[in-house]
Amino acid sequence: MSAARAVVALGSNLEGPEAQVRRAFGEVGALAGTRLLARSALYRTAPVGFADQPAFVNACALVETMLGPRDLLEALLAIERRHGRVRDVPNGPRTLDLDIVLYGDLVLHEHGLTIPHPRAHERAFVLAPLLDVWPDAIIPGRGAAARFRDGVRDQAIERLPEAP
Ligand code: AMP
Repeated sequence: MSAARAVVALGSNLEGPEAQVRRAFGEVGALAGTRLLARSALYRTAPVGFADQPAFVNACALVETMLGPRDLLEALLAIERRHGRVRDVPNGPRTLDLDIVLYGDLVLHEHGLTIPHPRAHERAFVLAPLLDVWPDAIIPGRGAAARFRDGVRDQAIERLPEAP
């Protein structure tokens, strides 16, 4: 199998979100057969859906991976568990959330795995970091990711300064 270029979205709003996300970049890049090509800036964003919770820190990692989409998902879920992720409230607070946004030009609708991530094009917290790591990214079936930027301009998002 050949390597695929994939984008992983990272998000956290509990227990030191910035540190959770920075640590997760390294862990994603250390997965078997996987190389971290680029990491986005970190963004502070307002919660979507369930508003009564702390702000999120979001980012994207661009990786090259030999893992297939299912194996990549399983590996990401294992990282989430290591960060103490507990699933209780849907869209609720989490120590770490990892989503596969893109996996090459793959379109997949399987039980428990949808690629490209179905809401990527309508969320500023995915689009902004995605465009950092891959300005020309194409969302298969939808078109250039950059085309959707105007549609999310009303969503509160703040680019955080680089860590020293
Ligand atoms: P959540 O962490 O609340 O975003 O939901 C995670 C669950 O969504 C995982 O257990 C997956 O089964 C499912 N899922 C579906 N598509 C994706 C995707 N593209 N990336 C990550 N998880 C996905």
